[in-house]
Amino acid sequence: MPGIVAYARARIGKLKDVELHFDPNSGLMRGARQIASPNHDARPAGVEADLIVVHGISLPPGEFGGPWIDRLFTNTLPAEVHPYFAEVCSLRVSSHLVLDRDGAVTQYVSVRERAWHAGKSLYQGREACNDFSVGVELEGSDTVPYEAAQYDALARVVAALCAAFPRLSPDRVVGHSDIAPGRKTDPGPAFDWPRARGLIAAGRGLPHHR
Ligand SMILES: [Zn+2]
Repeated sequence: MPGIVAYARARIGKLKDVELHFDPNSGLMRGARQIASPNHDARPAGVEADLIVVHGISLPPGEFGGPWIDRLFTNTLPAEVHPYFAEVCSLRVSSHLVLDRDGAVTQYVSVRERAWHAGKSLYQGREACNDFSVGVELEGSDTVPYEAAQYDALARVVAALCAAFPRLSPDRVVGHSDIAPGRKTDPGPAFDWPRARGLIAAGRGLPHHR
């Protein structure tokens, strides 16, 4: 399954033409490409997501495009293709959502489930942020400016998340580097937080704002 789907990279049309909407029961997003990652499990009993964690990812580092994020999250990254792949191909990681350089959204894990994106982490005295967070990866690197389409997509995704899951809030969006300082640097200095926060605060693209 993953090998075939991963190479498709099908576009679903321009993101601005697609209504983004999460079904609160399934935790799945309409308007997103769906690729199921096996790298998830249940959130702890009684715990719902109340934090959004923004990441940057590129495979190999600094290179964009290709099927490699899909392959990493489906445990099918071929070690022989690149030395870095050999380092990371045995990791069991995932994220709920990835926004590619065009701003197209792929979902790998239901928001109701626990994706494995944050690792050892701490937010306001609470450890293990995977338990209570939604992971959103932007295809990018710490030092290359992110694309306008990605900022727009992030704001729309945050709005859609907050509309479907009331414990999430535009005020509770952090970077991976904020919850794993000294260990993680993403989304990195290239990520323009004021720009992102401005768009998120404006509830951009949000028809049913709570
Ligand atoms: Zn990260």
